[in-house]
Amino acid sequence: MTTAAQEYQAKVKPLEDDYWVRRKPLDDAYWVRRKPRNDYWAKVKALRDAMTAYMPELEALHAQLCTDCPWDGTTIFSEGAA
Ligand SMILES: [Zn+2]
Repeated sequence: MTTAAQEYQAKVKPLEDDYWVRRKPLDDAYWVRRKPRNDYWAKVKALRDAMTAYMPELEALHAQLCTDCPWDGTTIFSEGAA
């Protein structure tokens, strides 16, 4: 005996299969076109990570070369300067 759910599945399955057959080339094209964007952000992240790793050394050098500097890590207009 065939249930209503089995009958439904039998009718829907070919439609779903057709959907995914048609969709795959669109998805493939999407990811090919998106690759440069992903590559770009991977390079930006690598640069940010390198800069973050370099910051303690840069800040130590700044403290050494720029004594009595009002820079607080965010602004040179710290309290008393405004
Ligand atoms: Zn400074």
